[in-house]
Amino acid sequence: MPTLTAVKKKPAARLGRPAPELIFGDLWVFDPAPETADPKLKSRYELFIDGQFVPPKSGKYFDSINPANERKLTAIALAGPVDVDLAYAAAQRAYNTTWGKMPGRERAKYLYRVARLLQDRAREFAVAETLDGGKPIKESRDFDVPMAAAHFFYHAGWADKLDYVAPGRRVTPLGVVGQVIPWNFPLLMCAWKLAPALAMGNTVVLKPAETTSITALKLAEIFQDAGLPPGVVNFVTGAGEVGAAVMNHPTPVKVAFTGSTEVGKIIMRSLAGSDKKMTMELGGKAANIVFDDAPLDQAVEGIVNGIFFNQGHVCCAGSRLLVQEGVADAVLAKLKNRLRVLRVGDPIDKNTDVGAINSREQLEKIRELVDAGVKEGAEMFQAPCRLPTKGFYFRPTLFSGVSMSHRIAREEIFGPVLSILTFRTVDEAIEKANNTAYGLSAGVWTDKGSRILKMSTELKAGVVWANTYNKFDPTSPFGGYKESGFGREGGRQGLLDYCKLV
Ligand code: NAP
Ligand code: MG
Repeated sequence: MPTLTAVKKKPAARLGRPAPELIFGDLWVFDPAPETADPKLKSRYELFIDGQFVPPKSGKYFDSINPANERKLTAIALAGPVDVDLAYAAAQRAYNTTWGKMPGRERAKYLYRVARLLQDRAREFAVAETLDGGKPIKESRDFDVPMAAAHFFYHAGWADKLDYVAPGRRVTPLGVVGQVIPWNFPLLMCAWKLAPALAMGNTVVLKPAETTSITALKLAEIFQDAGLPPGVVNFVTGAGEVGAAVMNHPTPVKVAFTGSTEVGKIIMRSLAGSDKKMTMELGGKAANIVFDDAPLDQAVEGIVNGIFFNQGHVCCAGSRLLVQEGVADAVLAKLKNRLRVLRVGDPIDKNTDVGAINSREQLEKIRELVDAGVKEGAEMFQAPCRLPTKGFYFRPTLFSGVSMSHRIAREEIFGPVLSILTFRTVDEAIEKANNTAYGLSAGVWTDKGSRILKMSTELKAGVVWANTYNKFDPTSPFGGYKESGFGREGGRQGLLDYCKLV
């Protein structure tokens, strides 16, 4: 538990620091607890091509800002088509001359080294991730960075055992792969994409999201320190056009994309007719389903974790709550109480539960959908916390009285907004949960094991959590149904997406 200080003590004045913005209900003010690790940011980040940091041919850079206070953190190189060509040429060379030919047991040594170096610099990476993306430090410190290292460890373990990926068949690498990732888990998505591709012997050109490129470029420093052969991983930074150039380039034999369904469709249209392999990890509108025999307090914690964790910037966020009618009022009352004490504010403060929205653009999108919810007649409740005056923040928000036709029940909001619907029977719960274009994840809360098995069979979702939510492990495949995409990341299944079976 964080330390509580009685409000009359004025701790900020006593410590000579600015007054803390965050109030715990109306009872206590918390002492600020900023992280002190130096994120060791450079004033400018170049492209990472052929093992070297190189300036972009255009000479252009763009700013990466801290969404918690709108201050510039650093400048990032803007890649153009020539840089993307150079990155792919380096990846092809590395595939032909070193990485593609290297025995798996040798590749494993590099992946282990990367994982260990990431652990060594974990605190620095966590602070950089939080400053650049706005997520609470306790999430980047306790989840993103350790989980990224775990993915490199796990796939290092596979690299010398690839004969067991598809028993009875031999596997070979595909060649050069192009990858594009979003801003909600910048380092973790790098690890999800890179570790299986590299373990299998492929080489990569990857584009991070425009607003969160820093930790990818710090990971490039680790690749240099680990002695990874030049060209095995190349990072090109910039906005959507650079992503399109990476996906549409003639060199890669496979492309892997994580991002919105909208952009995923654009990419699929532009690659239709080509023989490129594809993996698409797209949007979601997950249902958390609470039955009347569920342990309600535990369920409420799971619901809060499922949608307010990382400001709702989670593809598998439990953004719809389906609650059985008999317990709907009790669950709503408990949720409101929980929202009253959520701490929203400076992400670098280790007590913060809900940090900053990643960008002004994303904040506007959340506001638009929340306004639509109010206009369409749903009843809104917002956490009564004080928000910082600078930076991009949104109050954790609940909507009750939501019907399936409301936009807030159908569209991905990608913010800390929960839409609550009710149901009476198991079949109604399944029908409502599946009545969406997406199918990435779902949660079931009940005392009955048989009901969990029925629900997990009938819910059209890639992951179904039972009596928990948002649990991840590199050994478990993750991926979607329907418009949430195809292909799996993690586990043996994830490796199968990066190899040829011969
Ligand atoms: P996004 O707008 O689709 O962007 C994702 C990435 O694609 C970014 O790097 C983006 O560059 C780039 N991009 C934009 N236009 C492109 C184009 N025409 N061709 C190729 N690349 C292009 O998604 P986002 O807003 O960053 O991320 C949120 C979305 O990701 C949500 O829908 C979420 O559900 C989904 N997501 C899914 C998973 C999963 O595993 N299924 C995991 C995480 C997130 P810029 O950054 O410069 O725009
Ligand atoms: Mg940023």
